Amino acid sequence: MKVARLGEFGLIEKFRKITPRGHGVSIGIGDDAACVEAISHSILLTSDLLIENVHFKLSWTSPFALGYKAVAVNLSDIAAMGGVPLYLVLALGLPPTFHVNEVHRMYRGMRSACAETGVSLVGGDTSSADRLTISICMVGHAPVQPVRRDGAAVGDDIFVTGTLGDSALALNLLQSRTPADSKSRSIGFLLRRHHQPTPRLAAGLSLARAGAATAMIDISDGLLQDLGHVCKASGIGAEIWQKHIPVSSAYRQHTGSSGMHYALGGGEDYELLFCAKPDRRAQITKLAKSSGVRMTRIGKCVSAKSGIIVLDESGSRVPVSVKGYDHFARRRISRSSK
Ligand code: ADP
Ligand code: MG
Repeated sequence: MKVARLGEFGLIEKFRKITPRGHGVSIGIGDDAACVEAISHSILLTSDLLIENVHFKLSWTSPFALGYKAVAVNLSDIAAMGGVPLYLVLALGLPPTFHVNEVHRMYRGMRSACAETGVSLVGGDTSSADRLTISICMVGHAPVQPVRRDGAAVGDDIFVTGTLGDSALALNLLQSRTPADSKSRSIGFLLRRHHQPTPRLAAGLSLARAGAATAMIDISDGLLQDLGHVCKASGIGAEIWQKHIPVSSAYRQHTGSSGMHYALGGGEDYELLFCAKPDRRAQITKLAKSSGVRMTRIGKCVSAKSGIIVLDESGSRVPVSVKGYDHFARRRISRSSK
C-alpha cells in the first residue's frame, strides 16, 4: 500500500503502534508535544538532515539501513561531545508514492539503532514531500564537561578511533560496481561500514569522563576536513603521519591505486578524532581496551602557521588536495598541503 492511501494520520497511528514507550517518557507519540524526565542539568541537542539524492540514493540503500544511519549520525554527534543520548524526534517528508512497508522497514532500522543505545523516539512530524527527507533532532545529556573542538594546543597528540576510509571506499564501489560484489566478505564489511556506521558512544564518554581529550570531533566529512575544524577552533595546525592512519584490511584489499585517498578525505566514517596531552598516552591505551575501540595516534598539534601537513615515512610532505563536501558549493573543497 502506498502512503497516500494510508494518509498522514494513518501513518502516525502506525508509528505510534510500532514505537516502544521508552524509559523516562511520560508522554510519547500522540499528543502535541512529548514529555520526558529531566535527568541532567546539561542537555545536548543536535540535528541532522538526510535528503534523498543529496545524502543517499534509494537504489543503493535499503530502508532499514537508511533508518539505522539516520539515527547513527546523530548519535555520533552526541558521542563527539562525550555525551549520553536519550531521546529523538523525527521529521519525515515522504513522497506519496512511497510504500508503507518501506516506511515500516525504515522505522525498524531506527528502532534497532535506538535499542542498541537506549534512545527513545518520542515524537515527530510527517508531511508529503517531493523526495524522502529525514530530519532527526536528538537530545542527550552531558554527565561530565562536554569535550569541545576548541581545546587542543600545540604539542598535543592527535588520535582517531577505528579505521578510516571504509565508508567512502564503499560509496565508490556502489557507484562503480555490480551488486554481485557484495557477496565478498570484505566488500560486505565495507558496505556495512557505509550503511550502518557505529557511533563511538562508549569511547567518547570514557574519554570525557577521564578528562583525557583536549578537543574532539566526529569524522563525518573526512579526516582532513574535520581536523581542519578542530585546528581552526583551537588556533593550531596539525602534522599527520600518513603511515599511522589506521585502515582496515578490506580497505587495503580494495583501495587499488587510490592508496590513502579515502582515508584522508572520504566522509561518513563517524569515527572520533581527538587530541590529548602526551602524558595521557598510557591512559588512552587503557581506555581503548576498556571501551573495545581501537585508538590510534596519527600525528601531533603544531603551530597554526604550519597549517595541516601530511608526512610520508621519510618525513616528506605528501601533496594532498582534499576533499570535504560543501553543500552549497556542491563540490569537493580543496585543502592543499604542498
Ligand atoms: P501536530 O499537528 O500537533 O503537529 P501531528 O498530527 O503532526 O501533531 O502529530 C501527532 C503526534 O504524532 C505527535 O505526538 C507527533 O509528535 C507524532 N508524530 C508525527 N509524525 C511523527 C513521526 N514521523 N514519527 C514519530 N512521531 C510522529
Ligand atoms: Mg505535526
